[in-house]
Amino acid sequence: MIFQELTSPDIKAIDRENTICIIPIAAVEQHGPHMPTGTDTILCTAVAEALEAKLPEQTLLTPTSWLGASAHHLRIGATLNADLDHYVSMLLDIGKSLLNDGFRRIFYLNGHGGNIDPMKIAVRELQLNHVDSMLVAGSYWAVADDFIVSTLEGDHKYVGHACEFETSMIMHVRPELVRTEHIQPAGQLIDDVVNGVYVSRDMTQRTNDGFTGRPDLATAEKGEQFFNAVVDKLVETVSSLLTHPLGTTHQDFI
Ligand SMILES: [Zn+2]
Repeated sequence: MIFQELTSPDIKAIDRENTICIIPIAAVEQHGPHMPTGTDTILCTAVAEALEAKLPEQTLLTPTSWLGASAHHLRIGATLNADLDHYVSMLLDIGKSLLNDGFRRIFYLNGHGGNIDPMKIAVRELQLNHVDSMLVAGSYWAVADDFIVSTLEGDHKYVGHACEFETSMIMHVRPELVRTEHIQPAGQLIDDVVNGVYVSRDMTQRTNDGFTGRPDLATAEKGEQFFNAVVDKLVETVSSLLTHPLGTTHQDFI
């Protein structure tokens, strides 16, 4: 079910306990010289729409929230940013709108690295007043991490930024948006973790030109494999989440 295509009586009639609201959260920010700024919004939306198409009765898909927490890209420019406190507030507002309308299962489906910390804060905050609801937050690529790591050919074995993974995905979903003539390896990525402790560094400090990894190894074929693996795993994940009880104590989950 697609939220913005339904009427208020349609939405009123939805089974609150056995439907999961999918809230795609993404970003519009610089993606180096070869990828469009809307990469995260394009990919997260495409993945969320494919998920809804496979589970139309069990999911209620909201519009994609395109404004992300992207302050770490601002010095490069070409970036639209929500400050962290605004971003958490916005996620809370979307969640409260659904929870106060009676929905009991909500899933922030993320497509942008900078949203990961704030989305966790948002669900922890919502949980205080909605202990009888299921509050989920996760990045779409996380569900297929094993497949992604084993399929990536470059030595950057993780999802980065305008990297082998994201470039392959866009080559599959919107190939005409990739500036292939500007694709090159990113060079060294400066760590943001030193001996297990986090060091806050922005993209100007961490990267040579605003992107990471080996986009030169990206192909549309790999993109199709990544896309299908992600959607299949999301279908599995959402189906599993729907079997979890809406409990308020440990006893309810045994
Ligand atoms: Zn991003």
